[in-house]
Amino acid sequence: MLAFLSPRIGKLTLFLFISLVLGWHCLALDPTSDTERAMQCFEAYIRALQQGSEEEAKKFWNNEEPENYKSYDWQWEYLAFRRLDPRHLNYRVISTEEREDYVILEVEWYYREGKAGRLQKDLRYFIEEHGKMVGANPILIHTRDWPQRKSRYFVYHYKNEQDAPSDALLDELDRFYEKTIKLLQVDYQDKIDYYKCGSSEEVGKLFEMEASLARSQMTCGVVASIQEFVPHEIVHIISYRILPQDEKGIPPEYLNEGLAYYLGGASFFSPELLLFWAQKKLEVNEDILLDTLIRDPWAYGANQGAGLVSSFVKFLIDTEGIAKFKQLFMSGETYEEQREVLEEIYGKSTVQLQEEWKEFVLALHLPEVKIADQLHGRVTFEVLDPLGDDKGDGDYVYPKNEKALPGIFDLTGFKISLDDDMVYFQLQFADLNHAEISSDEVFNGTFAAIAIDSKENSGNTQLFFGNGNFEFSKKDGYEFVVEVSHAGILVYDQNWVWQLLFLKAFSQQGHIKGNQITFAIPRSIIGIPNSSWKFQVLTGGQKGGYKKIAYGVGKYMKVGEQSIPNQGGGGTDTGFNPDLYDILTPKGMDQVQILSSYDVSKNKRAIIPMIKLKQR
Ligand SMILES: [Zn+2]
Repeated sequence: MLAFLSPRIGKLTLFLFISLVLGWHCLALDPTSDTERAMQCFEAYIRALQQGSEEEAKKFWNNEEPENYKSYDWQWEYLAFRRLDPRHLNYRVISTEEREDYVILEVEWYYREGKAGRLQKDLRYFIEEHGKMVGANPILIHTRDWPQRKSRYFVYHYKNEQDAPSDALLDELDRFYEKTIKLLQVDYQDKIDYYKCGSSEEVGKLFEMEASLARSQMTCGVVASIQEFVPHEIVHIISYRILPQDEKGIPPEYLNEGLAYYLGGASFFSPELLLFWAQKKLEVNEDILLDTLIRDPWAYGANQGAGLVSSFVKFLIDTEGIAKFKQLFMSGETYEEQREVLEEIYGKSTVQLQEEWKEFVLALHLPEVKIADQLHGRVTFEVLDPLGDDKGDGDYVYPKNEKALPGIFDLTGFKISLDDDMVYFQLQFADLNHAEISSDEVFNGTFAAIAIDSKENSGNTQLFFGNGNFEFSKKDGYEFVVEVSHAGILVYDQNWVWQLLFLKAFSQQGHIKGNQITFAIPRSIIGIPNSSWKFQVLTGGQKGGYKKIAYGVGKYMKVGEQSIPNQGGGGTDTGFNPDLYDILTPKGMDQVQILSSYDVSKNKRAIIPMIKLKQR
């Protein structure tokens, strides 16, 4: 659905490569200035370290971090990971910057004897504590005033009041932690610091790195993310303890990422979905080589690569146990070493392991969307929607496009049925376009979202990244959404984690028959509908979602003021009107009123109510 989802989400970044250019300041400074005091502090700190006095050095660092972290100077640690020791290096401060309540020094490291060029560039931060300047990591500076809540295994930091974790969330984190510890059989004594950030820029800022959805600092057990819970990063932190902690080693990438994807999924993909993609990839591509994956886990694409390495880790753990896997995880950093230890530990050639792995993955029974010709089992919900009300807030018009056949946004009926394993859904339209999708960039046909509120007073109020430009009220928050388009069917949960994805482009079967779309979702994924569940179905035009997995099944076409080939008309150019042509309307309410309830001056999107199974 969004292009930025595809590259290595949450990829572990241990080393600091900063290209941030700070303004060049004159280095002849007022000795009482914060910058000069920071320079003096840094000099004294390095001198203490060079004289081998850890205790003395700590005096030039803030009080808090050495208490929390075993290695508090993260940039020193980056040097150590590169087998460099600052005690035997020269440094030069090449620029300084004074902010309101901290100072940044840009420091370059060199060998003593003028050999080679710059070894590493650090941005070093200093704050005032008890009347003197002391060193600090950026995360401390930027989160000093954040409130926190502690659970058994986590310290949860958050900036905005609305991000305060609920008891249920803290329980969920603790349960995941315990499960992971138990499976990996590692000893993790400390609490994990979790920072809930407001944006990917903020995540980057805390580590002085580029913007990212999530990042972790494995040696100190710190996670920062825009999501309230990212299992992937927690797996990285816990699994790092498999390695001997006194050596500065890192696990081989294909196993490190493979394990995190297998147990934690990706930021927006469930572990099962990643396995499903691996299975699909292996079904159609017989030339996939284990050897290539060991060398470069992303060689077969970012998302499929994530699936393939996670399926290989699952294969190793399920068939030969965790002990052997742990042995493999901590040995051999280079590709050649890794191949050698793999064959040694498992007593098989890479080629043989590759064959067994593929067989194992192809035989996995994974949950998937089932395409059906008709409803099966017992119909539990049935609703009709008026014909010809596909006009949004009253005067929406279709895009000026030959694919925009009259009636293709006009929902006329919605049914749900149940059998022993599956929940069936059927959407009925006045008409549907059957033309093949030709591009990700243009208007392609119909888009519908089915929002499911299966739990009272919880859930999300916005579709994936605000898709459709509307909201649900807090009491109508959804637990699951099914997005349906010409391109296929996507199921995701309230945390925007994709559970199932069916793409017609990769299937023999189509899901559109006549003017109906019928499919089924395993009950194990969404649960069993009962009379307390609420629903909404929202239709519009579709863009994107052809063959790129990370696009999902596309998103709603925009509705602006003017109708043009790839945009509907009759809305506004304010960016506030919903991109919806037709919704299910609760009894006694009016679609026009609901869809025009946005308010530009108050910065408010339209709020769309859900419907109880019995309500209509
Ligand atoms: Zn990762």
